[in-house]
Amino acid sequence: MATAASKQKLLTQVLGKGRKVTTGKETVEPIDIDALNVLEQVLYAFCREDATSTQADRAFQQLQERFFDWNEVRVSSIREIAEAFEGMSKAFERGERIVSFLQELFETTFSYDMDLLQKKGVKIAAKQLERQQAITDFIVAWVTQRSLGGHAVPVDNSTARCLKRLGLVDAELEQLPDIRAALEHLVPKAKNVEFTDTVSRVAVEMCHEKTPACPVCPLAGDCPSVRVSKAKKAK
Ligand code: SF4
Repeated sequence: MATAASKQKLLTQVLGKGRKVTTGKETVEPIDIDALNVLEQVLYAFCREDATSTQADRAFQQLQERFFDWNEVRVSSIREIAEAFEGMSKAFERGERIVSFLQELFETTFSYDMDLLQKKGVKIAAKQLERQQAITDFIVAWVTQRSLGGHAVPVDNSTARCLKRLGLVDAELEQLPDIRAALEHLVPKAKNVEFTDTVSRVAVEMCHEKTPACPVCPLAGDCPSVRVSKAKKAK
């Protein structure tokens, strides 16, 4: 198990070298994340979980362009919504969860305005979000970080896998909320957005589940799980 000091050193390396990872070849007009209201941040987080920012930006724009408003998304078929997530993991499941979320929101508030959460204080607002069936720990943390002004580090499965390989998260931590809590102690609040964006880029673009792209990963020199090809090993 890595010590707190070695994790801090590694964190500095991740924030520095991880910036060099770019997101694929696809070009998409970037979303102005800071301009999103609370409801939009929730819906963007559905797109962002286990995805690069480019994939999420494209999916979010597709949802906005293909449907008149969020109410139309709520009453549309899952198949139509899933088309916005083409090429992404769990496209159909994302569509199902978005409809389920919008349905629950509409039935409980009769509106699509969640900005009141910003006046409730971070803990109460986060608890209220958690109660929604379709909302994951990642989404609560994302909204806490981006809309509620709280200190949170959203962790999805790709990020957890990458951070365990790097040794920034202890291997025995299995549940995503436990990993998030450990990271919230390690990563300063002022760096939480940068950390989220950097690590998710490395995780989705390089640290693939089956064949991680270690030979071209900028963190290879600091990663205890680096995999080198047999040809290189033999030299
Ligand atoms: S070196 Fe390999 S295992 Fe380590 S973070 Fe990079 S891609 Fe993942």
